[in-house]
Amino acid sequence: MTVPESDNETGSGFPVPDDLYRRIVDNGSFGVLVTDLDGNIVYVNPRLCESSGYLLDELIGKNPRIFQSGRTPLATYRDLWATILAGRTWHGELLNRRKNGDLLLERIGISTIVDANGETSHFIAIAEGQWNQPPSQLMGGRQIATDGLTGLPNRDALIEKLGEVLTVSHANGSGFAVLYVDLDGFRSCNQSLGPIAADQVLIEVAARLSSAIRRNDLIARTGADEFVLVLDGTLDKKVCGETSGRILQALARPMNIDGRLLEITGSIGIARYPLDAGNAEDMLRAAILAQADARREGGDRFHFFAPEMEAQANTHLDITSQLRHAVDRGELRLHYQPQLSLSSGQVIGVEALVRWQHAVQGLVPPGAFIPVAEETGLIIAISEWVLREACRQAKEWQNGKLPPIRVAVNLSARHFRYSSLPETVASVLAETGLEAKFLELELTESAIMQDPAKAIRIVDRLKNLGVHISLDDFGTGYSSLAYLSRFAIDRLKIDQSFIRDITTNPVNASISTATIAMAHKLGKIVVAEGVETEAQMQFLRRHDCDEMQGFLFSRPVPADDLAVILREGKHLSFGSEPEAVAENTLLLVDDEQNVINSLRRLLRREGYRILTANSGVDALELLALHTVQVIISDQRMSGMSGVEFLSKVKDLYPETVRMSLSGYSDISMVTDAINKGAIWKYITKPWDDEALVREVRAAFRLARQ
Ligand code: C2E
Ligand code: MG
Ligand code: MG
Repeated sequence: MTVPESDNETGSGFPVPDDLYRRIVDNGSFGVLVTDLDGNIVYVNPRLCESSGYLLDELIGKNPRIFQSGRTPLATYRDLWATILAGRTWHGELLNRRKNGDLLLERIGISTIVDANGETSHFIAIAEGQWNQPPSQLMGGRQIATDGLTGLPNRDALIEKLGEVLTVSHANGSGFAVLYVDLDGFRSCNQSLGPIAADQVLIEVAARLSSAIRRNDLIARTGADEFVLVLDGTLDKKVCGETSGRILQALARPMNIDGRLLEITGSIGIARYPLDAGNAEDMLRAAILAQADARREGGDRFHFFAPEMEAQANTHLDITSQLRHAVDRGELRLHYQPQLSLSSGQVIGVEALVRWQHAVQGLVPPGAFIPVAEETGLIIAISEWVLREACRQAKEWQNGKLPPIRVAVNLSARHFRYSSLPETVASVLAETGLEAKFLELELTESAIMQDPAKAIRIVDRLKNLGVHISLDDFGTGYSSLAYLSRFAIDRLKIDQSFIRDITTNPVNASISTATIAMAHKLGKIVVAEGVETEAQMQFLRRHDCDEMQGFLFSRPVPADDLAVILREGKHLSFGSEPEAVAENTLLLVDDEQNVINSLRRLLRREGYRILTANSGVDALELLALHTVQVIISDQRMSGMSGVEFLSKVKDLYPETVRMSLSGYSDISMVTDAINKGAIWKYITKPWDDEALVREVRAAFRLARQ
């Protein structure tokens, strides 16, 4: 029994595909409920409305959690998920709650609905029998309404308790604080981990929060990843701040979930009675506004409520409602950033990046509205517009006799899972006349790792159309290498966070070079994102990276500017260092210019090409730009010491021969570095000219071996 998707959204009537189904479903004595894969209710039959006491409109779009009484044992839900995720039907009993608060024991069968391609599209629950039960029989007399997963009081219990605290505070003239704690990025964590592991995270979070507060403070779970703490009798800003700091620390400790180490952060909003609000609901609202403010500043922090937050919240609402019309009003724009070959230097593609031309705020970057669009579901309409416009533009460039290039479009996780995506892509290509090989779709790790088996099938369907697929922001998610080989992905885009310090941070350099090597073994092409300097580019070239994208060549630009780049044949030039010249290069590093000068005078006669730098940082830049065989570095330099510099060089350029110039007082540090292999030899300051020349010759001999 499936429900046509178009009808689900309307919320009017009880959509069923044909008359027989309608009669079965409408007249049946069983309740029926259907959700989409995100757990949103898309259909309920009249019987279910009747037994639960909710109207149809109150249920459509909600999560079935609305029925939870908090009294079904946690183990029941675990069993439920394990069974249906394994593709079987679950039968069992749930103690649910009617809208009027009455408890209802229901025998329920839950299973998955598959679409024409055999892919899970919905979940369906059928209530097979119901009994009204007095709570005491089931709960052994436990009265407080709790959340089924963590055993903490739920939202209703919290509001009730807050009312009591408020009355007491009011009566005796004391104060209290409400802390609203929301986990950062829990949605994506939920998506990539799956519901069972995500539940474990929440249970662990509940335990950590409970241990971070005093015994007489109250803690409740009010939503999926939302917790509320009530600090009774505490109004003091310092104490509230200290408690919040303690909570953030407790959350930040790595969490071991099924053998994976996770790092979780949270955002906390603090409201204080009677300063910020006068009743329980308003206190909660003030704390939520403060939390949203903390989240906007990047999360992992706490903010106290301030009256101006009301106005900001209204702006956010405004953005949502305006974004709804942005597509129809033609307010979206695409900018294009060139992607270049690191062997030919030519532009071989562009990435389309969306912007919102807002009447008041000007050009709004995607970071400011894509997350809102994801939350509200507007992302599908935006994503489809981007796809169509990018293909249209690419075809227009080709029609204008510009060199044909590939255009890459970012797909949100939500759009990727949208069942009609392959059909949409096919029809956009047909409509715009762009050949499939000129379109690339960029996926993120979280989009594919959420349900890898399903993602493999979607990627295969897309690949069958002839489009290219790339994996964006590689290295920032949880992808497993084992899975990667099973995806028909053409390109890996190394995230810009690794590229940023690739020439100075041996760890990020190794991650990047290992990614390149691994991707090549799997037959994939590697693109480096966010390349801003010549040094980064040369480093990547030297380590066989195939392509790059970044401000070094061009920022994302409007279509007309991109046409100019293509028409004029602008490209990257790689400098003129023939490999042979580089065979004889010596790098001198010292923060005293006179030392550099005398070393240079001495060694020039030997015919070396000599590069010089006055600091470790400058020297690392030179190393990225040029091939160097031998390095002589001073030990005592302000900033990075010689040993520190040479140790980084050992990791980044192990084939170099490294020598240290140091006074006797530094010998212990230098010997340590020699023992670790960072330094081949040390030369004492002041040096003997003849001996130094001999050592440098020996170093070059070693380098050539
Ligand atoms: P992304 O797909 O990883 O895109 C690359 C981002 O890095 C772009 O930011 C680009 O302007 C920026 N960038 C490129 N080169 C450099 C550089 O050398 N240095 C620095 N610091 N940054 C560089 P932008 O345009 O703000 O887009 C941000 C993100 O928004 C994108 O990250 C993508 O995830 C998302 N996005 C953009 N357009 C769309 C879209 O049409 N649909 C969807 N779903 N997401 C989009
Ligand atoms: Mg991208
Ligand atoms: Mg990226």
